[in-house]
Amino acid sequence: MRILVTGGAGFIGSHLIDRLMKEQQEVICLDNFYTGTKSNISKWYGHPNFELIRHDITEPIRLEVDQIYHLACPASPVHYQYNPIKTTKVSFMGTSNMLGLAKRVKARFLLASTSEVYGDPDVHPQPEEYHGNVNPIGIRSCYDEGKRIAETLSFDYHREHNLEIRVARIFNTYGPRMLENDGRVVSNFIAQSLKGHPLTVYGDGSQTRSFCYVTDQVDGLMKLMNGDHIGPINIGNPEEYTILQLAEKIRDRINPGQEIIFKPLPQDDPKQRKPDITKATTLLKWQPTISLEAGLTETITEFTQRLQGTQLTLSNIV
Ligand code: NAD
Ligand code: UDP
Repeated sequence: MRILVTGGAGFIGSHLIDRLMKEQQEVICLDNFYTGTKSNISKWYGHPNFELIRHDITEPIRLEVDQIYHLACPASPVHYQYNPIKTTKVSFMGTSNMLGLAKRVKARFLLASTSEVYGDPDVHPQPEEYHGNVNPIGIRSCYDEGKRIAETLSFDYHREHNLEIRVARIFNTYGPRMLENDGRVVSNFIAQSLKGHPLTVYGDGSQTRSFCYVTDQVDGLMKLMNGDHIGPINIGNPEEYTILQLAEKIRDRINPGQEIIFKPLPQDDPKQRKPDITKATTLLKWQPTISLEAGLTETITEFTQRLQGTQLTLSNIV
């Protein structure tokens, strides 16, 4: 099987590629390195089953593949809001190009959608039937509405052209290889604690999120891709925490004396989020296996090594 992973140099994409390579699939990683890094995939350079293509998906490309995992899109608010018009183009034009490619070569196409399609949800936990509460003109809209139109396009390709699609609604996922300056909450709190900086909680910290470890996420995506159900299907861990609880948990693991400071809550920040994973457990026979405690241990260990490595490299250069 030849498998294309768009956004393969990114956080989730590179873990997915590791799994696919270990299963001896032929993998093409396509990325423009906006938030992805070569170090995430460099261990596969030179492997006969691996190819890397530097390409921006807002431009069409012709390739011959059997499956497409379509992950290319910045995922952290800091990065997707940096150039919001580009984010919308990546979601619409990029997804349209990848669906066109899938149609031409009759590949199965999995869209990495998001819990953000539910917006600031007034139904809790969120089942797939919930249509969401999204602000169409706010600062998160480029991403939220971008993913909603990407879902719409995918379903219309399915209805109009019989394209085999799979739609995953990914909930907050964390783990090794998140960028230190990513801006997302787990990476921020770990990097801040390790550097001895105050942890920045936005708002009063009572908003909730549910955190899925990346290897569980990859497992869910692969089960969805290779199963019979189109979706959309929520892939996430239903263990729910307030952001203040998360800050305390990470702080106490790394640097118990560290101060927690409160900053303004960004516009349209969802107040609560937790996946209803009934569909994933019954239809895909998938459920998360890694607790937040265990996942944080892995993540903190990798961040510690990476930050020490950076300091070492810099001091060597100086
Ligand atoms: P990430 O930012 O680490 O990875 C995105 C990858 O896409 C990067 O390698 C980036 O360079 C690449 N990319 C961005 N724009 C591109 C373009 N125009 N052309 C080619 N490549 C491009 O993010 P991630 O956390 O790995 O997320 C992967 C996917 O999963 C995204 O589609 C995201 O929306 C979705 N998702 C992630 C989460 C999460 O919590 N991590 C939650 C919901 C949905
Ligand atoms: N958050 C925070 N401090 C940070 C980064 C994020 O309190 O340094 C909050 C953010 O306001 C949100 C939650 O943590 O309520 C999750 O943010 P993230 O950007 O990780 O994901 P998303 O909001 O997209 O779920």
